[in-house]
Amino acid sequence: MSTSSSPSLPGIKEESASKRIKLDDDGDGDGNGDPAQEEKKEETTSSSSTPSSSSATTTATTTTSSSESLMNLPKPVSAPFSSTSSTNTTNTTATASTAIPPTPRPSPVLNRCVIMFSSSYVRSLTFLGNRLGDGSRTDPTPNRLTIHGDRDILLSSLLTEYLLPPLQKMGLIVPVSPKMCSINHMLKFHTLPYLNILQNGPSSPSDLETYNLIDDCALPTTSEGRSHLFRYLQSVVGASLHAVAMLQPYSSNVKRTTCAVNWGGGRHHAKANMAGGFCYVNDAVLALQGMRQKFGKTIYVDIDIHHCDGVEDAFLHDSKVVTVSFHKYDLGFFPGTGPPTGKKGVVNVPLPGGVTDDMFKSVFEDGLEKIIHANCEHSQPFKAFVLAVGADGLYGDPIVGKDGWSLTTRGLADSVRFVSLLCKRLHLPLLILGGGGYSDVNAARTFGVCTVAACEAGREGVLSRLPDRIPDHEFFPRYGPTFSIHTEETTKGDYGSEVGRRGRKVWAGVEDAKAVIEIAVQSVKGGNQGGFSYNDDD
Ligand SMILES: [Zn+2]
Repeated sequence: MSTSSSPSLPGIKEESASKRIKLDDDGDGDGNGDPAQEEKKEETTSSSSTPSSSSATTTATTTTSSSESLMNLPKPVSAPFSSTSSTNTTNTTATASTAIPPTPRPSPVLNRCVIMFSSSYVRSLTFLGNRLGDGSRTDPTPNRLTIHGDRDILLSSLLTEYLLPPLQKMGLIVPVSPKMCSINHMLKFHTLPYLNILQNGPSSPSDLETYNLIDDCALPTTSEGRSHLFRYLQSVVGASLHAVAMLQPYSSNVKRTTCAVNWGGGRHHAKANMAGGFCYVNDAVLALQGMRQKFGKTIYVDIDIHHCDGVEDAFLHDSKVVTVSFHKYDLGFFPGTGPPTGKKGVVNVPLPGGVTDDMFKSVFEDGLEKIIHANCEHSQPFKAFVLAVGADGLYGDPIVGKDGWSLTTRGLADSVRFVSLLCKRLHLPLLILGGGGYSDVNAARTFGVCTVAACEAGREGVLSRLPDRIPDHEFFPRYGPTFSIHTEETTKGDYGSEVGRRGRKVWAGVEDAKAVIEIAVQSVKGGNQGGFSYNDDD
């Protein structure tokens, strides 16, 4: 791995590489990292179906402890992306690392994805989260960062031992060890007094309320705790900025990194000088600044169930960033913002609780097409795309509760797939960030499946070949009783018992949301003040 030729992020310190997955800073999977050689090399390798011996590989180790605990559990299957696999296959002979079937290659892979991921990165996030939150070990301050601790390590195992190896073998994705950022990077959005308090503590007790460093964003009371917190924040922001640095413009004949993923990112509630909703610093804003600077006008689309108040605020007066947020909007629902605004550069699509996959698809896909089309017709076309995916719209999210949405992993993955193919069609480099999601297992499922969906631009149809059953791996027992990669259909349970009456009501809310998009689009066409688009000289 070469660090000298890595994408330029001055002052960023590189994390050590994962021991499980071979990583590559330039994202080509060859361990080289020399961009001068890259295009020439890709022209030859993109037509080859077999990666070289030095290509990114995994060791996919299964622990003995988990194996012992599996004695009485149903045998999992693991033939990821096999063309012969089906959701109900009973094949039990293969392991995740060895069951990769010969893969037909209908065409060379030109659009590669990189994922900001390494075991060391995930371990660091998990460690920092636990250290922050476990008052018995380090710091007495309650801190709910632990809420994501298990999520990251579950996802890490799922990716390493199941999902990434076949995608890597197909040349669709490359794991990249993300870098930490410096305080100077954060200062491009956040204020120095705020960052100073995050690092060094408040100068007076009132500072904590002033900067909202309380409750779900409590500040550790010891310097050791704050040090852990700040390293965690540097890791999250650094990974998102590193992802931006990896992205390249589309090319019709040269393999390019056109999609970059950081599931640890998407902290969309933080403001320049204020924390909020588990978010201390806003990596999404910082990444958008980078996308706008690198590629030009950028569209940000957020499908976390909560409104992206921090991102919307940051770009209210920026003609080169358009924010589009699909979120639940209701009295008392956090963060309390997100009605239709009529402001330029902002499209808020407020949705009711209870939205299912079909409902979301009907408003998301059609609405996004209309927004993109109207923008292309009446303003400068978008040059890049950022998608923030929350897993807290899943049915039964433990924080959002029963009044939330009723999505499944299939619905969220379909949205990612749609955006991946949209960006391929429009030649827009795509950055994908994470978001909320408070069932650790279901969030790991979501981001795992969405990783596959993000590879659709490289190989259309790859998502449909993902087997339903999760294979044996370190945390296999956690996925019981279904052991499915997907969450269950949501027409059961609370929602299903009143699906007729409530369903009609929810559909009516979805139709209202479609009308909101229509009004935004029409206002652009009519040249009114409202809508989401800008003249270039605004
Ligand atoms: Zn959320």
